[in-house]
Amino acid sequence: MRGVVMHAPGDVRVQALDEPIILSPTDAIIRLAATCVCGSDLWPYRGADAVDSPRPMGHEYAGVVVEVGDDVKSIKPGDFVVGSFFASDNTCEICRSGYQSSCLHREGPQGAQDEPLRVPLADGTLVGTPGNPSEDLIPSLLAASAVFGTGWFGAVAAQVGPGKTAAVVGDGAVGLLAVLAAKQLGAEKIIAMSRHEYRQKLALEFGATDIVTERGDEGVAKSRHSPEASVRTRSSRPSGPRSP
Ligand SMILES: [Zn+2]
Ligand SMILES: [Zn+2]
Repeated sequence: MRGVVMHAPGDVRVQALDEPIILSPTDAIIRLAATCVCGSDLWPYRGADAVDSPRPMGHEYAGVVVEVGDDVKSIKPGDFVVGSFFASDNTCEICRSGYQSSCLHREGPQGAQDEPLRVPLADGTLVGTPGNPSEDLIPSLLAASAVFGTGWFGAVAAQVGPGKTAAVVGDGAVGLLAVLAAKQLGAEKIIAMSRHEYRQKLALEFGATDIVTERGDEGVAKSRHSPEASVRTRSSRPSGPRSP
């Protein structure tokens, strides 16, 4: 099989790797239908994070289950699944409180730019879709793997809800999906802080009601004084490219 490995900043190779096997009864093996490069992959690529040893790349993925360990109950071979960037059991106290990426048994993201992938804690980490998605839906399901979850988490952490105003700082994938999350959570007014025209268009499509192009203090002032600004404006700040 082939997989993507970063050997050093700027040195990323597609190379032959051993096929993954079930190591624990809670594992699953999936064949990827879609994966992507994340902003957080760029930190080591640019040399901002050290690369001490060859590092399998990739942590955002969706695919079809090939094999499951004996203890996996929620998915079976043939199911289409969307995975989360950290493997989590979804049963410990931290997971049950809604912080699955800090699961007591979490395992770090790795190797999701390989053809097949071993996913630990499969019952907690993978979510099956109803039936097999059409090709054109797969990119959207890939977005649900990490960036939508992160945007949603930001909106929930900012207590976005019906009748409220949300300001989303940043218009990358996470920021845009925080706009979508704020819309889903019922925000009345959603301010997208964005300076890129094509992203502004997406933000408006996803539910933004206002676009603010200014940054810093000027951007804050503009957001506060936009015509219908609510007194309960909160900031849903995407976590940026350092978060997976
Ligand atoms: Zn957990
Ligand atoms: Zn990521």
